[in-house]
Amino acid sequence: MTITGIPALVGSYDNYIWVLYQNQEAWVVDPGESQQVIAFLKQQNLTLQGILVTHHHFDHVDGIPALKQAYPKATVYGPQKTDNASIQVRLKGGETVPIFNDFILTVLDTPGHTPDHISYYNEQALFCADTLFSAGCGRLLGGTVEAFSQSLLTLRELPDETPFYCAHEYTEDNLKFAIQVEPDNLELQQRFANLNVNYPTIKTTALGTLKIEKETNPFLRFDRPSIKEQLLKRGAQDTPASLFKTLRDWKDQYDRQN
Ligand SMILES: [Zn+2]
Repeated sequence: MTITGIPALVGSYDNYIWVLYQNQEAWVVDPGESQQVIAFLKQQNLTLQGILVTHHHFDHVDGIPALKQAYPKATVYGPQKTDNASIQVRLKGGETVPIFNDFILTVLDTPGHTPDHISYYNEQALFCADTLFSAGCGRLLGGTVEAFSQSLLTLRELPDETPFYCAHEYTEDNLKFAIQVEPDNLELQQRFANLNVNYPTIKTTALGTLKIEKETNPFLRFDRPSIKEQLLKRGAQDTPASLFKTLRDWKDQYDRQN
């Protein structure tokens, strides 16, 4: 099986639409656009079997109608809570989606960015959309800090080797902020020095593994001493929700200034 990331909404939201395929069959994750996805499927001689949706935002769902028109037999899977009439199979945490015979994804409830957000996981791939980004995380757009911090801690429990696929390419900006938060983190310095993003070319590998995220992503490290100390100084209380909120506020402030 192959997983390829097709750039979408380039220059505005810088999304990835992930395509999973083998034996002429394909699935797509969060199609915010359709044209380039259909072109890719045709070029590779693939038939679309299914669409996976993580949450309701337009940059994850707006390509669905045109994809359904081109591939009427494709089935749309999405969260139970998402308000979108295109979703045919409603999912909640713990349920599974059979993608290919030897490739089944489990649904993880990962609310926080939005209340409806789910992720799709097995040991070969984590599709976590706007919950966990490469070196960052999504913004709070309707979810709670309690839910978001717990979702991040849930993802942190997954195996180190898990290849990781999120929905946006913000790695460079995220790493610049991460270095402000944790200037003495050697893995982080090394990651930034070796950064080689090349967006918006088609992505033929995962964005990395959870190991590198656990080592360098401040949003998986808000309770680590090196970061926690600074968050407490910034007024956080020693709870996951408060530490996360303080870090997220710090990042939002950083984004407004940069
Ligand atoms: Zn979103």
